[in-house]
Parts: sequence; C-alpha cells; structure tokens
Amino acid sequence: MKAVRLHEGSQLRVEDVPKPAPEAGQIRVAIRAAGVCGTDLHAARGRLPVPTLPIIMGHEGAGQVDALGEGVSDHAIGDRVLLLPSETCGSCPSCRDGHLGLCSKARIFGMARDGTFAQYIVVPSSCTLPLPQSVSYEHGAILADAVATAYHAVATRAGISGGERVAVIGCGGVGIHAILIARLLGAKSVVAVDASEGALCQAEAAGADCTVDAGVDGAHKAIRRASGGEGPDVVIEYAGRKSSVELALACVARSGRVVVGGVGMEAPQLPPLVSFVGREIAVLGSMGYTRSELERVVALAASGSLDLSRSITACYPLEQAGDALEDLATRRGNPVRLALIPG
Ligand SMILES: [Zn+2]
Ligand SMILES: [Zn+2]
Repeated sequence: MKAVRLHEGSQLRVEDVPKPAPEAGQIRVAIRAAGVCGTDLHAARGRLPVPTLPIIMGHEGAGQVDALGEGVSDHAIGDRVLLLPSETCGSCPSCRDGHLGLCSKARIFGMARDGTFAQYIVVPSSCTLPLPQSVSYEHGAILADAVATAYHAVATRAGISGGERVAVIGCGGVGIHAILIARLLGAKSVVAVDASEGALCQAEAAGADCTVDAGVDGAHKAIRRASGGEGPDVVIEYAGRKSSVELALACVARSGRVVVGGVGMEAPQLPPLVSFVGREIAVLGSMGYTRSELERVVALAASGSLDLSRSITACYPLEQAGDALEDLATRRGNPVRLALIPG
C-alpha cells in the first residue's frame, strides 16, 4: 500500500509498504480521508520529537472497515467509521471516566505508532466510532480532533450558557470550530482574535460578529469594546503562546473564565493578584474530550446543526502530502483544515 512516512532528518517520503493485517481484537480500515493538523506539521519539521522513526504520519482519519481480526463482532466489512486520534489503554482512571484526552498511556497515531496518511490502517476495534451516512469522510476525519476538542473546551470546560459573550483567540483549525460551537450553544456575541488577516476572514465566515488583530497595541481594550465594554465572559485560547494567554487574562470580564487549549512550552504570567483575585478570574486548561462528547459532536454534524461546509479548505492525493504541509505552514489559501485522499 501507499503511505506517507517520516524518516530521520525530517525526511518525508511517499512509499510502498506492506499492507498491515489485523490481529485479534483489531480491524483494518481503508482510509478515505485523513486530516492534516498543525501537530503533523510540527512533527514533520522536527519541532516535536517523534519517538519511533520511520513512521506513517497522521492522527485524523475516516474510512471503511476492510478486514476483521479474530474475535471482532462489533464491526462488519464495509462499515463507515471515524478513527480516534490515539490508542488509549482503557484501564487508567481517565479511560474509566471516558476522558480519552487524559489517558496517561495513550499512543498517538502518527507519533507513537503508524497513522492515517496511508491507504490502510490497523487499529483496535474500540478506536472507532460509526460515521453516519450524512457525514462525509472528509468531515468524519476531523470530528475526532479539530471539532470535538473545541466542543470540550467551549461546552464543558467553559460551560457556556446562552447569552454569554465569548472571545476566541487563535482562529486556526480548532479555534474556528470553537467559534461555530459557541454560536451553536447560544453565545450572545463572538469576537475572533488572531494575528493573521486570512484567519480572521475565516472566523467571520464561521460566525464571529467582529474581529480584532492580536498584534495591535491595546488589543485587550479592543476586545473589551467589542464585547459590550465589560469584556467577554468567556475567552477560549487556541494560540498556545505566552502573549495570547496574557491577552486573554487582560481582556476577560469580572467573574469570567479563560479556557486555554493551545499547547506549547511558553510560560504565561498571571496579572497582579489585586486584579486576578479582585476580578475573580478562572483559568482552565482543556485537553481532548470524552467519548460521549465525541458522540454528541458526530450527532450534531449528522443532523446538520453543526455546519462544517467551510471546514475543509482543500483536498490532496497522498503523493502531495508535502505540498499540503507546506500550504499549512505558509497558510496559502487561508486553510481551516486540509485533507489527504488516499484514493
Ligand atoms: Zn491534531
Ligand atoms: Zn488510559
């Protein structure tokens, strides 16, 4: 089969590799679409350590069940499925709570074991969810990463209720979906904040009421003005920078919540305690999602309540995986999410 493999020295190659066979409890899925995420870009450029090389890249995918391992009775050949982004252990406290994002032994596809940038993948049968007929493979591929991650941050961690003012800082693949979900859950207003003009255009198309350039002096005041003067009740952060988290803390309203979903190595500072404590700001991290949240997101996509029509900006054949990563790096064509189609 064809596969996109990452080798030592950040070498990306499209190669012929043996088609994997499912062992007991596993299924083989013929990949119909794979999402290209910022994490893939960091791994391909050597900015994220990949422990096992060479490795088939990719952790977002959807396809059709193509072969069953011994003892698998919950799937049939031809089933449409979406893939979870990692293999979880199933037995740690987080797994027992259904919180897939917090499993301490998770093996991420494309990082710790072979991933979705290939014609086929073998996974434990528990690593999939049924993909309804009304949801395309391209959309199915991103539900379990870009969309469900945003849902957990907005619906559960922030717990937004109707009528609240929201700001989203960092309007890339996940942030755009945070805007869509905030709108769906009844936010009174949504302000989009990013340093890229193209990302702000995408944010407006996704339903943001107004946009603020993160790079201007006094951006926190502009966000407050755009949020009725008092500032947003909830700020969702998906840039993963010291400056963006500090911007969130500076603009949030009294008694507001800042939910940080962007990951990185930078270390933001709290405001002076007289302001942080005096305004009763809550700061919450947000990582991954639960299985039931993912099921909810799939149902919202299937019913059409969650409009993903602008979520996939372009599709590429596997052979052009390098071009897709380059276009994501340079933001050519203002990508929300890009997809690979193995064909
Ligand atoms: Zn990802
Ligand atoms: Zn676990």
